[in-house]
Amino acid sequence: MECFSDPYREWWENRTLEEYFLHCQCYEYEEEYFEDMILKDGSLLNDVIETVNNFTDGYLLGIEGELRIYVVNECESGRCYSGCYDVKEHKIEIVKEYINSKDVILHELIHFYEHQLEEKVDPVIRELLTIELYNKLSPQIPDLRKRLLDHCELYSYVETFKSGGQHGVLFFLKSLDLDIRCGFPLGTVCGYGRDKSIIE
Ligand SMILES: [Zn+2]
Repeated sequence: MECFSDPYREWWENRTLEEYFLHCQCYEYEEEYFEDMILKDGSLLNDVIETVNNFTDGYLLGIEGELRIYVVNECESGRCYSGCYDVKEHKIEIVKEYINSKDVILHELIHFYEHQLEEKVDPVIRELLTIELYNKLSPQIPDLRKRLLDHCELYSYVETFKSGGQHGVLFFLKSLDLDIRCGFPLGTVCGYGRDKSIIE
């Protein structure tokens, strides 16, 4: 534990049983769904992995020693959220009644991994990953381009949507990838009712 940050150590020592199980669940999701965002061998950017390694400079990506996840009665940033990722604090809050909601947890995890890529890795890696995801999804979602443009229009013009977190192109593509891999209707992981309810 010595190498971990103080906030992480404090979280680790005080985590509840629910938070412990939720954290374990996140490890499983990382293994199952986020190989591309943690730049694992054999993932989407595998054929440029040497370049990736140069850019990441040996940094390890992933939730180990980094992600604190809290079960709360309501999110600090707003009562209407089911979950929330706090960029400054590097922590996820999940409202108690949603601790078994896979779509809510996956949504917040995308925020976490995207933020980790922003902080630790050269921006070109995120750009490459975005293109690879687009190419991967294109054959699976025939109207992908239209969906993306619609999403970005929404993203640009609705102030409240923006204040609910960053849901840019990489976020949106990854959310669609997870919808497909989990068998959810497209749009579930991105919206999961939360952002929608804010807009409406
Ligand atoms: Zn969000």
